[in-house]
Amino acid sequence: MMSMMKPSKPFFAAVAIATLCSPVEAAEIQEVRMWRAPDHTRLVFDLSGQADYNLFTLENPYRVVIDIADSQLQDDLSGLDFTASPIEEVRSGIREGDDVRIVLDLTTEVRPTSFSLAPNAEFGDRLVVDLFDLEAQSAPVPAISRPQLDGGSRRDIVVAISAGHGGEDPGSIGYDGRIKEKNVTLAISRALYNRLDATPGYQPVLIREGDYYVNLKRRPQIARDHRADLFVAVHADWYRSSRANGVTVYALSGDRADRENAARIAEKENSSDLLGGVGGDLELASLDDDVALTLVSLQMAWSMEQSLLAGTEILASLDGVTRLRRDKVQQASLQVLNSPDIPSILIETGYLTNPAEARRLNSASFQERLAAAIAQGVMSYFYSAPPDGTLVAWQKSNGIVPGSYTVRRFDNLSEIAERFAVSLAELKAVNGLRSDTIRIGQLLTIPGVGARDSEHTTRPGETLSEIAALYRISVSQLRRANNLSGDHILVGQVLKIPSL
Ligand SMILES: [Zn+2]
Repeated sequence: MMSMMKPSKPFFAAVAIATLCSPVEAAEIQEVRMWRAPDHTRLVFDLSGQADYNLFTLENPYRVVIDIADSQLQDDLSGLDFTASPIEEVRSGIREGDDVRIVLDLTTEVRPTSFSLAPNAEFGDRLVVDLFDLEAQSAPVPAISRPQLDGGSRRDIVVAISAGHGGEDPGSIGYDGRIKEKNVTLAISRALYNRLDATPGYQPVLIREGDYYVNLKRRPQIARDHRADLFVAVHADWYRSSRANGVTVYALSGDRADRENAARIAEKENSSDLLGGVGGDLELASLDDDVALTLVSLQMAWSMEQSLLAGTEILASLDGVTRLRRDKVQQASLQVLNSPDIPSILIETGYLTNPAEARRLNSASFQERLAAAIAQGVMSYFYSAPPDGTLVAWQKSNGIVPGSYTVRRFDNLSEIAERFAVSLAELKAVNGLRSDTIRIGQLLTIPGVGARDSEHTTRPGETLSEIAALYRISVSQLRRANNLSGDHILVGQVLKIPSL
């Protein structure tokens, strides 16, 4: 959204006269905005032009002081929400006649950084002040918290979900001037997270969990820190015409000479990095080395191929849920997809400039359906070629197709069991249900087809407890069904799998 000029406060009337003697380019502070991210607090000063400023810190008590030369403050700062931030209060005053001094009173010490941003299509000149928390809380190492019910030590597939834009970068603005891409992408990303989180064998990671901006170069880095197997960026599009509609899926590409369409998207998405892009090019520069580049391009070829495969599965699963603007995966040199080591795709879920599509994209029910389709595509991709050592690889080698189902209005448990051809008892056991009570929106794990097989042929290296976990039954149930007294089984032995 464009920042709006607010009327001057009477307090500044006297200063306004003083600025008549100043150079023409006095930079007014039109608005101050702020966001809280997991590891820092960002303040953005919207300015009417370039401004000289000086930032320093004071102790006892901790303060950050920002002096902006030859300026006026037009925001009364009452709209700032300090919740969860180290800021206790923001005060302002006039210094040396025509400078604005802003004092941030802090509850704790912070590490401040600041930089100026030139105008872009959305905003004018800005001064950005980041207050980093001293205790680094960023990028928590993923705790392996999932109970190991299924497949012993076999690892989960990690899917990094990057909700486009955020914080001071709203992304595309809807036809009504109110629907913002950053909110739509976060809602779809959260729904996708919930889907995958409810599916055994998957560990989703949200690159951004709230309304704050994450640098485009930092996003793949977070995915890398979590050892992601796939990177999925979620966006929503805009166009001059309100008729444009439909979903487009882009895959990682190293090809700089892209088609016209891709170039337009790339320009738009990459430009958002300018909003928060401080020092980002330094990271790229550090890759400028012959050996590194050779390794990177080898990795890149593999990642590009995988990105195309993943994108194709996701596109196929979106077909029917929404219109496909392109029925093939597009390749684009998007900054956020510039990850040589992680297969990466970007989904433009639809057009916010199309009223009907914008309303759908902004509705929770459609966001859920999109997320379900994307999750289904992700699972199909991984099921076709599961990474070694994962539960999904293990499931595939045993003919088990994982799945989940979201409870809808008027559903009841026995109907759902019937629909998926599983027993009611099995469905309840897999989902830990004690009664038949379910609620709308509840995610149920549907036991795969393998769980309905009444037999399992033992493979080399398998143990009884692994097989029991695979079918989500206890070892004693498995022993009883097969008249086993100990844990000893033979390779090729056919075991009866009891239905619960
Ligand atoms: Zn976007």
